[in-house]
Amino acid sequence: MTATLPTGSDDTEGGHHAVLEVAREQVLDRGVGLDETQVREVLGLPDDALPELLEVAHEVRMRWCGPDVEVEGIVSLKTGGCPEDCHFCSQSGLFSSPVRAAWLDVPALVEAAVQTAATGATEFCIVAAVRGPDERLMAQMREGVAEIRAAVDINVAASLGMLSKEQVDDLVDMGVHRYNHNLETARSYFPHVVTTHTWEERWETLTMVREAGLEVCCGGIVGMGETLEQRAEFAAQLAELSPHEVPLNFLNPRPGTPFGDQPVMPAADALRTIAAFRLALPRTILRYAGGREITLGDLGTRDGLLGGINAVIVGNYLTTLGRPATDDLALLEELSMPVKALNAML
Ligand code: SF4
Repeated sequence: MTATLPTGSDDTEGGHHAVLEVAREQVLDRGVGLDETQVREVLGLPDDALPELLEVAHEVRMRWCGPDVEVEGIVSLKTGGCPEDCHFCSQSGLFSSPVRAAWLDVPALVEAAVQTAATGATEFCIVAAVRGPDERLMAQMREGVAEIRAAVDINVAASLGMLSKEQVDDLVDMGVHRYNHNLETARSYFPHVVTTHTWEERWETLTMVREAGLEVCCGGIVGMGETLEQRAEFAAQLAELSPHEVPLNFLNPRPGTPFGDQPVMPAADALRTIAAFRLALPRTILRYAGGREITLGDLGTRDGLLGGINAVIVGNYLTTLGRPATDDLALLEELSMPVKALNAML
């Protein structure tokens, strides 16, 4: 049972925010995530409540996940030329974004995995810009994953779009341990973001992936024009799915995409969102994904890691540059947050 709160965010008396009291009792003490209404309350907290909010979110992360930070590298097996129209994505072939279609061969894939492992990362995610994989892509995966597993000790994850049941089983056979498929945004906002497939189709793939025993990685992008209610709705829908990992992206408006002119999300909103998602998902790996550099900058990266984030992607993203891996690793050391070891997950 969850405690109820008055609606609206002005439950403030002399700087006291009732939703933070509830978060301490419900999430920190009992490990029960905030529900949609409560997340909306958190998203509406004023800026002067932000330090306390981040503190509670950090305590929740430390209590229910511990200090370890999971480090992941990603590589793009197939870049650009995607037939879908996700309005934030510079890899769609339907927009005039300057991302060219390209394929990576197997030796390059293995080399990327080796380099990723050398940073201390435990996760290596192979990503392809497709609606779903065709036989050519699955064949490349079969060969690539086998060679990576023979060459280096690292968990292999994949993100290949929507899957059939046979393809899910194929990935299990290859030894892929986690599958990423983002719901991207709240169900009610999804038609404003994508028109070439539905939120429900994505949910279907996620259900199959989970039933096959793969770890589910599912997150999305905030700052795409959704309301705070929809942002809270999204957190609640993710909580219902209960993914192992949630990658949280902040819109990085890419030239040539329909969202190219959207404003960059203010840092305070981004931090409120991180904390709110942590309070909705106390035990989930909450990963900083794309967009944090322009939204938060270096200082904000630290604030997020002290406000609920417990996983990072090192190096570059798929189509934009990230911070150098060494910067992130140095920051983790400074914050006394150990990089999660591979054997800790076996
Ligand atoms: S987000 Fe994925 S499915 Fe959508 S356009 Fe980009 S690559 Fe294609």
